[in-house]
Amino acid sequence: MKVAVVGGGIIGLTTALQLKHELHNAEVTVFASDFDDTVSHVAAGIFRVGSSYSGRTEKITREWIRESYEYYDDIRKSQESSFAGVTAVSGYIFANSSPEAVKNYWMEELVPIYRRATNEEFQLVEGNWKYGSFFTTLLTECKLHLPWARRKLQETGTKLITKKFNTLTQLATEWDLIMNCTGLGARSLCNDKRLVAIRGQVLKVKAPWVKTFFYGELDTYIIPGFDSIVTLGGTRNFDSENIKLCPHDSTAIRERCENFLPVLKKAQVVREEVGLRPHRENNVRVEAEQIVNGFSKAILVHNYGHGGYGVCTAPGTAKYAVNLAKEMHKSSIAKL
Ligand SMILES: Cc1cc2nc3c(=O)[nH]c(=O)nc-3n(C[C@H](O)[C@H](O)[C@H](O)COP(=O)(O)OP(=O)(O)OC[C@H]3O[C@@H](n4cnc5c(N)ncnc54)[C@H](O)[C@@H]3O)c2cc1C
Repeated sequence: MKVAVVGGGIIGLTTALQLKHELHNAEVTVFASDFDDTVSHVAAGIFRVGSSYSGRTEKITREWIRESYEYYDDIRKSQESSFAGVTAVSGYIFANSSPEAVKNYWMEELVPIYRRATNEEFQLVEGNWKYGSFFTTLLTECKLHLPWARRKLQETGTKLITKKFNTLTQLATEWDLIMNCTGLGARSLCNDKRLVAIRGQVLKVKAPWVKTFFYGELDTYIIPGFDSIVTLGGTRNFDSENIKLCPHDSTAIRERCENFLPVLKKAQVVREEVGLRPHRENNVRVEAEQIVNGFSKAILVHNYGHGGYGVCTAPGTAKYAVNLAKEMHKSSIAKL
């Protein structure tokens, strides 16, 4: 079977790896308008799925999240963890608004530790916080993980081609199966009006002394990653597509993070980044359909719209998307 994966971010590459894992004889090619400058490269990559994250049903969503966690945890336990950019992290979330703000429906049933912060732990940061939780989780640094995934794909004979498409139906003439992993690009490719950008800006600073993550209110977060780089965030601008850095955002992020954790004052900025989260109203789209172009037919599987949680949930949705493709392929053979 000839398979085209469109998209070279975390969703496209994880889906391609899953395809190679499940369909050994498939001839897979990954196309992307860009492999090196994607939204995935901006993410801190922490595994913290927000309570609003949703697949088509709660059961499916729970399955995606659990399978994703297990996928990354297996990599973390393997010898490849540092090359693949996967590690364990632990830290705190503090809030004043309500006790619900420090709870997390998905995470509490998933991670090894999720508990209330102790009185001593409230002293670790500035601010008179009323509520706090401590939890352990995983982190996937895409600047390491995506090149690792590309290497793995190339080792199995997968081709990676830089190319932009204006439609997906054009692919039906050459490919049996097309996996649409184009993130925000799916909005025009599928005329999907439910897909909207949520702009995010972050600072990456060098702070080897920060080993623990911290979340506060107003989108304030401090997340240590690989090579002593700490992500300071952030912003969430709904329906904003401005990818230029905003100096006011940078100043505000720095100020909020330093007020929260004053030891950050001596940290040097390494870079500042902006990304557009591909948010889809109601739910992430993982669906299969059949497309026709002239006399050619192909299976098209969509896998996009992961919003602010695409890095952590990519493996689960990839597995589900590949299963949909397999089922559709089987039933199309049965009809012949
Ligand atoms: C500031 C910020 C912080 C974040 N932090 C986290 C975090 O801590 N944890 C987490 O899980 N998530 C986080 N996210 C969200 C995460 O980055 C996204 O959910 C994820 O990267 C989406 O991946 P994707 O592969 O769908 O999209 P992308 O990474 O955008 O990849 C899309 C791919 O499709 C290609 N493409 C698009 N259109 C076309 C076309 N017409 N033809 C050919 N190719 C096309 C692009 O070139 C690209 O290769 C964060 C996002 C931001 C902005």
